[in-house]
Amino acid sequence: MYDSIIVGCGFAGAVVARELAERGGQNVCIIEKRNHIGGNCYDLYDDEGILIHQYGPHIFHTSKQHVYEYLSRFTQWYDYKHEVVANIHGEYIPVPFNLNTLKLVYGEEKAAELREKLISTYGMESRVPILKLRENPDKEIQQVADYVYENIFLHYTLKQWGQKPEEIDPSVSARVPVLISEDNGYFQEPYQGMPLEGFTPLFEKLLDFPSINVMLDTDASQLIRLEEGKIYFDGEEFTGQVIFTGPIDEFFSCCYGQLPYRSLNFVFEHYEQSDYQPKAVVNYTVSEDYTRITEFKKLTGQKMPEHTTIVKEYPIPYTGMNGEIPYYSIVNDDNMALYAKYVQLLEGYPNFHLLGRLAEYKYYNIDAIVDEALKLADKLLG
Ligand code: FAD
Ligand code: UDP
Repeated sequence: MYDSIIVGCGFAGAVVARELAERGGQNVCIIEKRNHIGGNCYDLYDDEGILIHQYGPHIFHTSKQHVYEYLSRFTQWYDYKHEVVANIHGEYIPVPFNLNTLKLVYGEEKAAELREKLISTYGMESRVPILKLRENPDKEIQQVADYVYENIFLHYTLKQWGQKPEEIDPSVSARVPVLISEDNGYFQEPYQGMPLEGFTPLFEKLLDFPSINVMLDTDASQLIRLEEGKIYFDGEEFTGQVIFTGPIDEFFSCCYGQLPYRSLNFVFEHYEQSDYQPKAVVNYTVSEDYTRITEFKKLTGQKMPEHTTIVKEYPIPYTGMNGEIPYYSIVNDDNMALYAKYVQLLEGYPNFHLLGRLAEYKYYNIDAIVDEALKLADKLLG
């Protein structure tokens, strides 16, 4: 009955579904174990009428014009440029650490000197990962690096990952480099914004195609079985394509052991006041058990005088317990070797494809996963 079966209805699954259905003329079934579409980008109105992101703040940003244009078919955009500040013992400073932060921390005169040194060493508008900045032999640059390491990265990373910045994959801390720039933006890509009506309406439009069927509240592990080179769906042999976007270890009942992930506890609080904090996101880089607080109105531009909702993010290890969500894969050699063992179990199943943040065990942003989904659809459609 179906040409393709897609497991998971986040960006990975929803974009592939749309492409196979619309461009490929296929009959597509999406199986989603949650009771809603949108994966981790799902948003909804809370009891007080504020648009919130149930699984943490999501901001769209990309330098990939085709991805921006693709999603623009399904949404208009609220023109939002994300800026973050760190709360350092009650003082707010821009993050990523940039030339404006330098001035706030060191004062006009000293900052002017350091600024010249940083510009002549790295060039204006360059992005320097903190672990690289720390390798600079110059004593004064080292002092700046030590300040940034201690006040921006060390405690936040210990909370988020349970490890120091130098112990995690360098690409993770490099996502938030030191910026030799006066730009206070958190992201530097040219296309940034929030879906004007929210992410969930964007997904509703993406999935609004006659030959896409979505089954919510359904765990694919109960329906899909692999055996001797054949895929079975609901007990019957299935010869179409399966695109799997969930955790691959769980699909195989964690037979080689669980792939490690970090998870988060989100604590939402509502206040009868107009404002809670100066920016949509404030990072707590030297104190508190939570990593950051998001005030949703400031992300979405929603006008709601005298009411605001925030969320605090408390990182926790993922244990696989019911209700816990694996948010971040922990990329290191051991975990990638374990992941590779699960991928090997798929040898001999050329119609079973892995896609997405969980299935590929990768730290993908929205734009990267949309791009990957479009590429996979291209490949499958020849
Ligand atoms: P998901 O959105 O996780 O979707 C996978 C879906 O598969 C889920 O709905 C899940 O329920 C379902 N599923 C899993 N297993 C099964 C099963 N066995 N049967 C049926 N269904 C199953 N990116 C940005 O670009 N900007 C941001 O600001 C940003 N902020 C983020 C904040 C947080 C806290 C996190 C964790 C991520 C953030 N991201 C952000 C990344 C973004 O969430 C991902 O890029 C995107 O959600 C990946 O989409 P996906 O479809 O691969 O995965
Ligand atoms: N990071 C940090 N302090 C900050 C912001 C980020 O130490 O104020 C580090 C931390 O290790 C984090 C990583 O940089 O996990 C990537 O940050 P990003 O904001 O990209 O994380 P995400 O939004 O994906 O959770």
